[in-house]
Amino acid sequence: MSLAVTGAIHDGERVGLRATNGLIAELGRDVFPHPGDYLIDAAGAILVAPLINGHTHAAMTLFRGYGDDLPLMRWLEEKIWPIERKLEPADVYWGTRLACLEMIRSGTVRFWDMYWHAPAAARAVADAGMRATVAAPLIDVDGRSEQMRAAAERTLDELSDAPERIDAGLAPHAIYTVSEDSLRWIAELAADRGIPVQIHLSETEQEVIDCVSAHGERPAHYLDRVGLLSPRTVLAHGVWLDDSELELIAERRATVVTNPVANLKLAVGRVFPYPRARDAGVRVGLGTDGPGSNNSLDLFADMKTFALVQKHAAGDAAAITAGEAWEIASGRRAPPLGAAPALEVGQAADFLLLRAGAPELSFGELPAALVYAASGAIVQTTVVAGQVLMRDGEIDGAEEVLAHALERARGLGLAPPAASSPSPRTRAATS
Ligand SMILES: [Zn+2]
Repeated sequence: MSLAVTGAIHDGERVGLRATNGLIAELGRDVFPHPGDYLIDAAGAILVAPLINGHTHAAMTLFRGYGDDLPLMRWLEEKIWPIERKLEPADVYWGTRLACLEMIRSGTVRFWDMYWHAPAAARAVADAGMRATVAAPLIDVDGRSEQMRAAAERTLDELSDAPERIDAGLAPHAIYTVSEDSLRWIAELAADRGIPVQIHLSETEQEVIDCVSAHGERPAHYLDRVGLLSPRTVLAHGVWLDDSELELIAERRATVVTNPVANLKLAVGRVFPYPRARDAGVRVGLGTDGPGSNNSLDLFADMKTFALVQKHAAGDAAAITAGEAWEIASGRRAPPLGAAPALEVGQAADFLLLRAGAPELSFGELPAALVYAASGAIVQTTVVAGQVLMRDGEIDGAEEVLAHALERARGLGLAPPAASSPSPRTRAATS
């Protein structure tokens, strides 16, 4: 399929864009539709790169609003883990489809997912038309190393025939939920297969204290010693990393994905030291974390929060610029996250059109408007690999996804039962 966009504004110029075979074939002032192109008249909408969500647990959309306002361990132990034991692949499929709806709507085209029943999540991403790196969480603190390793290999086998837009990875949950032996095993398996590894690291101060007491070194040094710090490693959080760890992470060319909203909501006590990470040369991305602990998947909102908490923590309004925050949210500061490096000919045809004439984008510098004024509602059209996933705010099949997700949430006892049919009196009143 070929796609042509006319009348879009890019870098202040009115341009056209053509996409063929999933790539940008033409972009510029003198680009016009060819016969047979699927045509979008952008009518002055702003053409920008899309966003990359570097860390989430997508299917937790089903848990949104369940057990909020509890401390992390109580939330996990009393609310989330008991329900997660009941999850079936269909729950993960529809929960992930719901997450995809929200992400497409708010301009995210690719995400890094860590969740149970990863093959079901992969099917959901493929059916939604998005891109993702999917991985099932690996946990063996209960001494179940053999089962965990077998499950990891089985999941990778099941993901081996995933469509092109889906990458498989490994996701040891954290250094405190996976044994040292298993972390080494995961490092070898990832290196053998050349696949990425996602892990939560240095989210809380307690994690650092426990790591130093158990292993005699801080989390990033420990992870390096077990062979898990490489250019294929994506570290979620990194809130409590110190300078020596940031230097090591930069040297190993690993990526840190900061999740400022989830960190604030779960009150982890500090802010990811972004200026020091940047100065050390660390690759940095932005994530929402799961919709159970955020609770939104709107990366525009998190981009603003990210910039604001960094300024606040540094006591310096210049600690991060809007342009920097935008580049981080669109994955440009961490190539392993998988964003196309630029909107240009030959790159993946992944892009957004932002509402023409939106008051938030009326004047001033575009990055500042995007980071400080806009929300995900500014996104009008979302395109992945030249395929239009949302056009003028409409996503095909959205109602079906919502209905199925609600049904699965009800099955888990997470949503009220369907209302019984209205009484004749109510019917009369509403007809
Ligand atoms: Zn997480």
